[in-house]
Amino acid sequence: MINYTKHFIDKKDINAVTQVLQSENITQGKKVLEFEKSLNKYFGSKNSVVVSNATIALYLLAKKLKWGKNDYIICSPISFLSASNAILISGAKPVFVDINYYSGNIDVNKIEKKILELNKKKKKIKAIIVVDFGGFPADWRKLKLLGKKYKLTLINDNCHAIGASYENSKKYAVKFADFVIQSYHAAKNITTGEGGSILSNNKKIIDEIKHLRTHGVKKGVSKFPWYYEMHDLSYNARITDFQCALGISQLKKLDKFIKKRKKIADLYFNKLKDIKYVELPIKSPLKKSAYHLFPLKIDFSKFKITKEKLFKIMKSKYQINLQVHYIPIFDQPYYKKKLKIKRLDFKNSVKFYNVVISIPIYYSLTLKKANEVINSLIKVLKIYAK
Ligand SMILES: *Cc1c(COP(=O)(O)O)cnc(C)c1O
Repeated sequence: MINYTKHFIDKKDINAVTQVLQSENITQGKKVLEFEKSLNKYFGSKNSVVVSNATIALYLLAKKLKWGKNDYIICSPISFLSASNAILISGAKPVFVDINYYSGNIDVNKIEKKILELNKKKKKIKAIIVVDFGGFPADWRKLKLLGKKYKLTLINDNCHAIGASYENSKKYAVKFADFVIQSYHAAKNITTGEGGSILSNNKKIIDEIKHLRTHGVKKGVSKFPWYYEMHDLSYNARITDFQCALGISQLKKLDKFIKKRKKIADLYFNKLKDIKYVELPIKSPLKKSAYHLFPLKIDFSKFKITKEKLFKIMKSKYQINLQVHYIPIFDQPYYKKKLKIKRLDFKNSVKFYNVVISIPIYYSLTLKKANEVINSLIKVLKIYAK
């Protein structure tokens, strides 16, 4: 079965993990610091904190930034649940803003409208969480200006875009956003199994989050060797040393991973360019996608087949598991009950969800297999063309 994503582990990864497993510290040892340093070097951050997953990274950041019940935080409805959940858990209110239909990224122009609308009602927007959807960077220059103009904290949910570049820099995320969240879940571009981080040039906040990572406890605050002090209520969000060893080893392969993802993307672009009613992912000279996803938009009204049927055929006939990223978050039962959302305000998100599918793209997918994937898809679409 070919899925939309797959991790890649080689001998070097296994050796790196094995070495830690045979050492004194399998958790909270040297590898945590070493992984943080490697991340800083690659992504150009001055500071970073690695944790057990990206979702808890968002929780800890929200806690440190003291989001609470009078705060409104803007986020995208076309994303995974983590960002909006973190906002709710902090006690603040998520404010969804519609996406740009072409990129799948939150629409920057609509953000400003939303800010003005809420300001009129004396409601305070405190931050924006932006996903670089599918690995394609958002309009970070405009977002930065917006952040300055309205004094907002800018957060890049960078989970898809690990290895992307913007204005020819792979260090764009930290350059433009105040805080960058990454995930190293097995589905992402590099993996530690489960894992995540916050990257930032703000040393004070990152240092404090390091205490929040471990129950809000500070060590080394007294001359007694047994002593520790708890200053904040928090979670255990630690990641193990063997996971960090894997992360260090994976990061060394990131350029290679992205190159291959791009090759597969080029093949898909080439094969699909003349297929009617299929819209390809957006491209831009100043933005290089990390191709975490290859989101295709299919106008199903022009085919005698539904999305559901297409999924079924691709799976049963070709052993290809397609995916959809994402069900709009406001359509989740919990969110429907919690927030009063007018679906009419989210025309692009709704339309996007109706047409979008993710086709397989990952490092170990051979070009031969990728060819098979795309030929099968094209074949099915041709059979069911109206
Ligand atoms: C994967 C993902 C997350 C969550 O990451 P975890 O490490 O699994 O918590 C959050 N946001 C986006 C956009 C993701 O793709």
